[in-house]
Amino acid sequence: MKLIMLGPPGAGKGTLAAKSVNILNVPHISTGTIFRTAMSSNSPLGLKVKAIVESGRLVDDQTTIELVRERLAQEDAQKGYILDGFPRTIPQAEALAGFSAVGKVVNISISDSDILERLGGRRVCRKCGHNFHVVYDKPAREGICDHCDGEVYTRDDDKDEAIQKRLEVYRAQTAPLIQFYREKGILVDMNAMIKFEDTMENFKNALAPRRV
Ligand code: ADP
Ligand code: ZN
Repeated sequence: MKLIMLGPPGAGKGTLAAKSVNILNVPHISTGTIFRTAMSSNSPLGLKVKAIVESGRLVDDQTTIELVRERLAQEDAQKGYILDGFPRTIPQAEALAGFSAVGKVVNISISDSDILERLGGRRVCRKCGHNFHVVYDKPAREGICDHCDGEVYTRDDDKDEAIQKRLEVYRAQTAPLIQFYREKGILVDMNAMIKFEDTMENFKNALAPRRV
């Protein structure tokens, strides 16, 4: 299964992808998590992208494409993958087509008010990248990840100003991918729901073979 998760920030791409790894048995590859991990460890990549990511803008296509090309060349990605956060621009999608045959694109829709509620309350584990929410999905111990004991923090780009910027960037640069993949006949639409279990149900339906 070579799958792309498409949708605005806060749609739940990362959460759905993480929960599906065991079902689909392919790696979850999140460019956002790769960038944040690099930023936490102050690697050359992290230092290069930090200011851009924190402001809610996109990392340049060349850097991002190269990163994904290398990641998809690794052993575990040969049987498939769930790509979360890539591609985010038409040039990225065109480049991807040159080195991998995508099987399906799940396009997640969500209302603007739900986006704001989700992103404003989102907390993330610095170590393993797991997502929590201050109201809907709290870690058992405040500030500590249930899965790896890592520190749970608020992403800089989940603050108000950066959220607006990310929504703008999504509409201008990423939303055109919906049409791009619809024309290729591999896009399936689904709605994000308030309850995660309902969203997961919609996602499973979207993955069912009959849908494309
Ligand atoms: P979300 O889906 O919540 O907006 P991500 O974790 O996918 O967040 O991405 C966070 C940030 O990482 C983006 O706002 C951007 O700065 C950078 N980023 C992630 N993926 C890409 C990409 N494919 N191209 C360019 N920048 C990216
Ligand atoms: Zn963790």
